[in-house]
Amino acid sequence: MEFLPLFTQLHGKPCLLLGGGQVALRKARLLSRAGAVIQLVAKEILPELAALVKENGGNSQLGEFDESQLEHVFLVIAATDDEPLNKRVSEACHQRLIPVNVVDSPDLCSVILPAIVDRSPLIIAISSGGRSPVLARMMRSRLESSIPASFGRLGNLASKFRDAVKAKFADIEDRRHFWERTLQGPIAEMVFAGKDTVAEQMLSKEIAEASPETGGEVYLIGAGPGDPDLMTFKALRLLQKADIVLYDRLVAPEIVEMCRKDAERVFVGKQRSNHAVPQEGINQLLIDYAKQGKKVARLKGGDPFIFGRGGEEIEQLAQEHIPFQVVPGITAAAGCASYAGIPLTHRDYAQSVRFVTGHLKDNSINLPWSELIHDHQTTVFYMGLVGLPVICEQLIAHGRSPDTPIALIQQGTTVNQKVVVGTLATMVERIANDPVQAPTLIIVGDVVKLRETLAWYEVRDLAEPDL
Ligand code: SAH
Repeated sequence: MEFLPLFTQLHGKPCLLLGGGQVALRKARLLSRAGAVIQLVAKEILPELAALVKENGGNSQLGEFDESQLEHVFLVIAATDDEPLNKRVSEACHQRLIPVNVVDSPDLCSVILPAIVDRSPLIIAISSGGRSPVLARMMRSRLESSIPASFGRLGNLASKFRDAVKAKFADIEDRRHFWERTLQGPIAEMVFAGKDTVAEQMLSKEIAEASPETGGEVYLIGAGPGDPDLMTFKALRLLQKADIVLYDRLVAPEIVEMCRKDAERVFVGKQRSNHAVPQEGINQLLIDYAKQGKKVARLKGGDPFIFGRGGEEIEQLAQEHIPFQVVPGITAAAGCASYAGIPLTHRDYAQSVRFVTGHLKDNSINLPWSELIHDHQTTVFYMGLVGLPVICEQLIAHGRSPDTPIALIQQGTTVNQKVVVGTLATMVERIANDPVQAPTLIIVGDVVKLRETLAWYEVRDLAEPDL
């Protein structure tokens, strides 16, 4: 981190502003909004700028910069187009340890002014460390359009009742839960609808009637196949509410990073035949944490109900009457197929799709093979990499053509995605020379041929279809 974001209280503090043109005017407006007392020095000063400075209790001085002007100033902004002067100002400030900002010269700055989304008292500051102000501004416009203008009023309401809530809930966790409920619920909606007085009445009633939450809750969250952008809004929202996060190997580290910074993270493993915590242990952990009153997020790769044992995890929660929510996720079949350019169904090639598990038990896979050999059906095998030879052999033995196309998608949707295409007859040999690692998804069916035209964004030589 090159710069630490800090929010500075400037009310009544003397700030030196050098420069008298348009850029200085913009900085003067910003400083005035923050309540600073501006001491302006420039050879020429726009009348509008001089008026603004005067209006806010500051003073303007026509003339040159000299180091005596740095006595008793809290912050210095150099907004001149005189580069040697900017450099001199910067050096003088650095020597005296006075924070200095030189417009458009990040190298001369000890502080930089971020792009701001102002929903006072909520303020969002965005910075690219001076490297790409355009990127910072783009991010600002995104936030501007997605945060309701009335967010600030919601902040004011919260601040009005802060002490009352503190008095009601001695425990800091209880307070946090109370505010999380309130700032996302009907009271917030009232503020957004402009009915602040009603919101205020509702909030005092809520505080009077509220009791500390005792029971915990579990969120069984489908985190998608890998690319963090494939999480749902709901998944993200609940993940950020959680006090504790249980995750396994299939969940991308970037996704785990999206939890609250103070949330506890627990790795519960799950690698083929190497479970860090066995399934029963995970089920029990969920119950134990929830009983301690915690909000527990159980992050699962893909969708929790597709080969995710999600059903087992919530069965016990239901028996224990622990509240839970299940958040669906994009399953590996959907994610890998899209990112590999293979539509799972297509009017000309496949009218149905089946998801099956290719997990080996005693070196065999117990599947209804005769149902998986139809020409116009796509079959997707999860957990099928180890059993690949058995899968290819059995499909052919039961009557599927040896020329049927098959795709292996390793770490689909991630930056490490690798796709290998072949036929039922050739695939085992192909990956003997070009190994593929878990997690890998297998897609069998004529739809795989479409990849040639649809996977326009991938490096061609990863796949050499000999179909
Ligand atoms: N609940 C998950 C599946 C868990 S089973 C879901 O809905 O996606 C684990 C298997 O899913 C892996 O063996 C692999 O076959 C497949 N899988 C999961 N993520 C994958 C990915 N990013 N790329 C390829 N296969 C993946």
